[in-house]
Amino acid sequence: MAAEPVSAEPRPTGPRRLLARLRDLMARGAAPLSDVARLVAREMVAEVASVYVSRPGDLLELAATEGLNPDAVGQTRLRVGEGIVGLCAAAGEVMNLPDAQNHPGFAYRPETGEEPYASMLAVPVRRAGRILGVLAVQNRAPRHYSAQEVEEAETVAMLVAELLAGGGAEAGPREGVGGAMPRVFSGLSLAPGIVLGPVVMTGGFRLTGRMLTDDPEAEVARLDAAAARMRRRLDEMLGDGRVPDGEEAGASRDVLEAYRLVAGDAGWLRRVAEVIRGGLAAEAAVQRVAGELHERMRRIADPYLRERLADVEDLAGRLLAELAGATTPAIPPGAILIARRLGPAELLDWHGRGIAGVVIEEASPAGHAAILARALGLPALGGVRGVLAAANAGEDAVLDADGASLILRPEEDVRRVCLRAIETRAALLEGQAALRGRPAVTADGTKMRLMLNVGLALELDQLERTGADGIGLFRTEIAMLARGTIPDTAGQAAFYAQVMDAADGREVVFRTLDLGSDKLLAGAEAPEEANPAMGWRSLRVGLDRPAVLRRQLRALLLAAAGRPLSVMFPMVATVAEFRAARALLEAEARRVRPAPERLSVGTMLEVPALVFQLGSLLEEADFISVGSNDLMQFLFAADRGSPALAARYDLLSPPVFELLDLVLAAARAARGGVGVRVSLCGEAAGRPLEAMVLAGLGLTSLSMPASGLLAVKSLLTGVDLPSFREVLGALRGSAAGAASLREPILGWARERGLAV
Ligand code: PEP
Ligand code: MG
Repeated sequence: MAAEPVSAEPRPTGPRRLLARLRDLMARGAAPLSDVARLVAREMVAEVASVYVSRPGDLLELAATEGLNPDAVGQTRLRVGEGIVGLCAAAGEVMNLPDAQNHPGFAYRPETGEEPYASMLAVPVRRAGRILGVLAVQNRAPRHYSAQEVEEAETVAMLVAELLAGGGAEAGPREGVGGAMPRVFSGLSLAPGIVLGPVVMTGGFRLTGRMLTDDPEAEVARLDAAAARMRRRLDEMLGDGRVPDGEEAGASRDVLEAYRLVAGDAGWLRRVAEVIRGGLAAEAAVQRVAGELHERMRRIADPYLRERLADVEDLAGRLLAELAGATTPAIPPGAILIARRLGPAELLDWHGRGIAGVVIEEASPAGHAAILARALGLPALGGVRGVLAAANAGEDAVLDADGASLILRPEEDVRRVCLRAIETRAALLEGQAALRGRPAVTADGTKMRLMLNVGLALELDQLERTGADGIGLFRTEIAMLARGTIPDTAGQAAFYAQVMDAADGREVVFRTLDLGSDKLLAGAEAPEEANPAMGWRSLRVGLDRPAVLRRQLRALLLAAAGRPLSVMFPMVATVAEFRAARALLEAEARRVRPAPERLSVGTMLEVPALVFQLGSLLEEADFISVGSNDLMQFLFAADRGSPALAARYDLLSPPVFELLDLVLAAARAARGGVGVRVSLCGEAAGRPLEAMVLAGLGLTSLSMPASGLLAVKSLLTGVDLPSFREVLGALRGSAAGAASLREPILGWARERGLAV
């Protein structure tokens, strides 16, 4: 039965009355959604108020309504993305439409009897970052709902979310139920290592207790006191030496200082106080504002800004703990922390409490948590969507950051394998350490040059730990991303000089700024692009806005101070671009004294078009370095950041072999047979099997992450390249059309007892 239309009189006591009524309703116990819908319709002067809840299979089901046909409850279902309600859930955004029926997304459901209603306000019901449903309000008259009404509906949606998640509602979706089956997740390795241990979880705040207040000023006072306590504790924590010392102190201290600034920033706390004054209890208000920020963050492409907002989320968690007066409970030894997002201070805190590894749903390798995890030597995995919802605290998990995977509730045999892997890894690391001082020479006597990929000062000690032949790729943008700014010429020169000093005469290949796409600095000019990886990034920006590039080139020349200098340009797509970049470097070189003893100028080869310009490129470049990360992405048209595509296209496949053959043959023949140096510096070079194949194809110089260097050296010292080449040639001959030759190559290596 449809409700009587309510007269459109102004509300007597404003939005607080709705919250007060809801408070009364909830005080009587778990409120049915139908009562909530009735109250919303009455207090918001709406003819219709409905609650849709998420159902398995990406569906939304009408769970309660005041105003639509009650027979449609439990019957009407929309797909996420279908209709206004579905669009609201899909985008996680408020839809405020005076003329909903003429919106292109409108989906008419005759059983609901909704044709008389023109305007619609749909608000996502969200909890811990997940959409649990939609609250929809409708009116006959076309109208745009006011900002105050939107805010009111959002507050109600938050209460509905608690009802749904708490199981208090008759139609609550199952959430956070992990089940007992093992689950495997893949992600991005942020810091290496393997751990087996019990899960502890953080993030996705769980509210308990009251959500509304009738004494907002007392709540604001409670908030202020809690915020002051939180700031005091942060000052103590950041001052007590828990931040790792040594080379990494620069980057991690900068990260933490930025965090402290956010903690002291009154803006977001003011917003919390504002929400409290609207009738929410302090805890609920903190959660509400953290949720708003999370939503804003989802839409921000700039990783630096996203990290700042992550800091606010981190702080919100601390503030909730302060409000609850909670003392931190002990965690089981060797625990694996699973978090949705993690700010740097929180990670430090958890590290202090003894976690052995960390999994972060939303983290990128250039993010602050990743930087700190590496500095703390904590195995870490990022970009693992949905793991919080699937995990249960206390159950075991295997975190294999080397293999970029997480297994929840591993079976007994998986646990055994994992324990063996941990032991093997420890033994391997020990055995490999012995290889550090030995030259990298294959069994047949081929001398290999194994270099490091480095980006932060804190990684420089890896040169000694691995005994690398130098730095084959110094990613100059990484330290700038960690600090959030591009230092001036003197600051950059000091940093580059520090890198050259650490290399102590070994070659360092400095790659000029490779910013853009996923590597953006705050405030950077960043056009809206559908495909930023193929957009205005890297050298393209450097050539169009040469001031920053010239400053960097000058800093490199100053840092060299007469020593040999190697500079490499990223994302070169044409010889003309290389020429233009080289000309900028040479122009700077004419002005800096003392001139470098030798200036080597090279290019990354990561854009396939360059392969077809090798003839002239090799006349002009002193060396080339194959960037297989981007080259694979562009060769196979496969986003390198997409976990879904990670296993689909293989470097160990015929098209890649053909391409590398072309490059190596051209480089050998270049300059009248004198040849031009070729190296490969993608992540693949750090994986032993890949490194063996690359050596088999003829590469003698590889640059890789430090974590792979000794394992690669260990394998290469056991390989007889001529025998392997024969096998590889035969496999290639017989495998036309194969997507990958990994399995047979792996089989060959295993048969020979090689540690792949
Ligand atoms: C590459 O693309 O292979 C590479 C080494 O550069 P980056 O990973 O920094 O893009
Ligand atoms: Mg690249």
